[in-house]
Amino acid sequence: MPVVGVFALQGDVREHLSTLTALGAEAVPVRRPEELARCEALVLPGGESTTMAKLARTFELLDPIRVRVRSGMPTFGTCAGMILLADRILDGAAGQETIGGLDVTVRRNAFGRQVDSFEAELDLKGLDRPVHAVFIRAPWVEEVGPAVEVLAEAEGHPVAVRQGHLLATSFHPEVADDGRIHRLFLEMVRR
Ligand code: GLN
Repeated sequence: MPVVGVFALQGDVREHLSTLTALGAEAVPVRRPEELARCEALVLPGGESTTMAKLARTFELLDPIRVRVRSGMPTFGTCAGMILLADRILDGAAGQETIGGLDVTVRRNAFGRQVDSFEAELDLKGLDRPVHAVFIRAPWVEEVGPAVEVLAEAEGHPVAVRQGHLLATSFHPEVADDGRIHRLFLEMVRR
């Protein structure tokens, strides 16, 4: 079974660990470079992307994660994790750093201008029935590069995307008691 790390300096780590474990992965929290080195794949959870980037920098994880993502490690970002994977951020904090790799522009707190949080049933490419998507101060994707496949949209904007070994959702599949998107990610890891 694949060893899948969950970035664990901030965010909803526990939910990802339990979903991955239930699907048969060996899920481990990642707080230090040595822990990252053991992992075949990584999940970047929801949380606060500015805090996560700062902590990753402080704990010397930011550059090692960048290197691994660029060298093909399957990586799945949810919400703040999507922001961390994005190459370009709109409405970011001053000097906000990302891990990058995903050729998209995301707008932080995009839905939040109207409503902080909401839930929706979304059709997602590759899944037979809709997913219950929980959005919490969520970003949306404003622009995608040519290699990016849009898997789901909400309010006319991409909210789930895939690019090669990278998967990202604006919403939180880890809180929805539905392992299908994590299963999709584990299929990417096994390939
Ligand atoms: N708005 C948060 C950010 O910019 C993301 C929110 C979330 O992950 N639920 O990091």
